[in-house]
Amino acid sequence: MGETYRKPHAIMIALPYQGHITPFVNLAIKLASKSFVITFVHLEYIHQTLFGSKNEADLFSKERESGLDIRYTTISDGFPLEFDRVLHSDEYWECMLRDFPARVDEFIAKTMDSEPFLTHFLIADTFYTWLQTIAKKYNLINVSFWTEPALVFSLAYHLDLLKENGHFPCKDNIDEEINYLPGVASISSKDLMSFLKETDETTIVNKVVPKAFEQVKRADFILHNTIHELESEILSALNKIQPNYAIGPINFSKNLAKTITNKSLRAESDCINWLNSKSPGSVLYISFGSFVQTSKQVIEEIAYGLLLSEVNFIWVVRSDTVGSGDANILPNGFEDEVKGRGLIIPWCDQIMVLSNPAVGGFLTHCGWNSILESVWSGIPMICYPLSYDQPTNRKLVVDDWKIGINLCDGGSIDRNTVAEKIKSLISGPSSEAALKHEVKKVNGILENALGADGSSEKNFDQFVNELKAKLNCGNEEVSTI
Ligand code: UDP
Repeated sequence: MGETYRKPHAIMIALPYQGHITPFVNLAIKLASKSFVITFVHLEYIHQTLFGSKNEADLFSKERESGLDIRYTTISDGFPLEFDRVLHSDEYWECMLRDFPARVDEFIAKTMDSEPFLTHFLIADTFYTWLQTIAKKYNLINVSFWTEPALVFSLAYHLDLLKENGHFPCKDNIDEEINYLPGVASISSKDLMSFLKETDETTIVNKVVPKAFEQVKRADFILHNTIHELESEILSALNKIQPNYAIGPINFSKNLAKTITNKSLRAESDCINWLNSKSPGSVLYISFGSFVQTSKQVIEEIAYGLLLSEVNFIWVVRSDTVGSGDANILPNGFEDEVKGRGLIIPWCDQIMVLSNPAVGGFLTHCGWNSILESVWSGIPMICYPLSYDQPTNRKLVVDDWKIGINLCDGGSIDRNTVAEKIKSLISGPSSEAALKHEVKKVNGILENALGADGSSEKNFDQFVNELKAKLNCGNEEVSTI
């Protein structure tokens, strides 16, 4: 190591949601395995959710024991710990938009002061609206990490084109083909993200997204938790404008397997014994992710659909699945009626469940992590997107890759259709075989991308080399865990 060598130091700030935190944690570990020093920053309330009042608890103690230099700290979002950020989500994000940048600014200044012998740079979730402004102020290289598909990124990146063509905001009831976006062959307006269809431009998402995507246009590097082969045209088109690197699925990167620990925000129910008692492919797994909410009526139709279908199932019903705080989300007597073949739990280790041989299908809200985890486990999906990026992700799963079916083709959800779709996925002869065949193919693409010569590994290495060159850090020996 030369005398002037100063190790690169990433200050990483994740968005406070499970689907964003997990890829961030894994990116931190992967970068640390390439000799980066990491300071991983969680919001204080996320730390409290993970560890309760144990202030000294450390998210990365295991990784540090294995020799990685990952430091862990917290930052306040300005709200009391007990403030219900889900219930008051608009108020929360208004303040995050207005006041949080100053907190980050102060935090960065302090961190830089306390570590004068490191070469600092910033990594933040693309949804944050301050990354480039703060990076510019402190003359820092900045990396924007996008945890959803490149298709969704591209749509938000080209808001100006959508606006020019009358597709932002887009009327919810129109069905027009959009074929003018670079790298996007064609997408129906009905498959746009839900926030692009909000006619009220003053909603909080409509304030955050345009601002965040103005910022990302000045990012030094953009990382995507996707796979080049699955979205090659979109990524190539984006690459003509800025350096984009598809490095996914980061949660399954091979060199993480040894150290990865559970960073789940909720307590997990153990369903292994129950699953092991069921025959292969006989169980439907149902989950709507970590935060999206739905109505009691939807829950009822799914419950009655499950009853009619007679299939085995594990259903993750979070206490906040229905916004009202109603404790009796499921129909009266439902749990008794499905005893023995249905398990209802508040949260689980989803990857462990999906990879159990008993599971044959996944009824999903189409969160991007859930899709990647399903493909990784070779499980076909029934799609019921609710909002945000989920309708757009559904298009990839059902229309493009043909590894899933729709729960309802437009219109409202009804129990008979639910039962029919579930039965056809779990025990139907031909359609299920075709879906499984396609999932296997996409699964192969994911596996290859993470192989030593795979596109995601190569892209990651290229990113690391280009980043180090830009940071002027040279190439110190690379240690791998
Ligand atoms: N998840 C989990 N246990 C559950 C339900 C979900 O660990 O019972 C995890 C799931 O594995 C995924 C994340 O929560 O990694 C949800 O992310 P996704 O992008 O699918 O949806 P979001 O929560 O962002 O809507």
